[in-house]
Amino acid sequence: MKILEFAKKEKMVTRDFPVVPYEVTEGFRGKPEYSYEKCLGCGACAVACPSNAVTVKKDEERGLSVWKIDYNRCIFCGRCDEVCPTEAISLSKQYVMCVLFDKEDLTVTGEMKLRKCDSCGRYYSTERLYNYVYNKLISAGWDRATIDEKAKHLKFCPDCRREQAINNYVNQMTKRG
Ligand code: SF4
Ligand code: SF4
Repeated sequence: MKILEFAKKEKMVTRDFPVVPYEVTEGFRGKPEYSYEKCLGCGACAVACPSNAVTVKKDEERGLSVWKIDYNRCIFCGRCDEVCPTEAISLSKQYVMCVLFDKEDLTVTGEMKLRKCDSCGRYYSTERLYNYVYNKLISAGWDRATIDEKAKHLKFCPDCRREQAINNYVNQMTKRG
């Protein structure tokens, strides 16, 4: 009886969706939209994603970093949106995500050129991420000579950076006697 009373009072308790699109409220967590142009391939979203919907993998044969989102796995938590430094991925109000036959149609991929370490020649980052950090330093007032001197580690992979740090430390200790 309560339901009948409610229906009588409210008149209409259903919507005309999908004939009339349903308006979601502000802050609704819908489909994460990806902008390939803005993406650096940094992988922060893949690390933050709790359901492994986002992956970033190196394809060394082709010299590419392959970014991929699988909407079949997404739980719309918004972690990718929170951690992305360039707003390349952000939650939208889109909630209709259906495909007819192929689940692969619910995936989006972006490929970015990898960058090699100046010391050992192994791939360690994307060109886009390197240029992003480089340009940040330029816009912070650093000139190219200063970057080459004080931030040369940007051009090296983590292993080579570690090795150089150890070598520098050993050299300093040797000089001190
Ligand atoms: S919204 Fe959450 S689950 Fe979906 S891709 Fe982003 S981090 Fe992963
Ligand atoms: S965090 Fe943003 S910039 Fe980095 S890989 Fe993910 S979408 Fe691209």
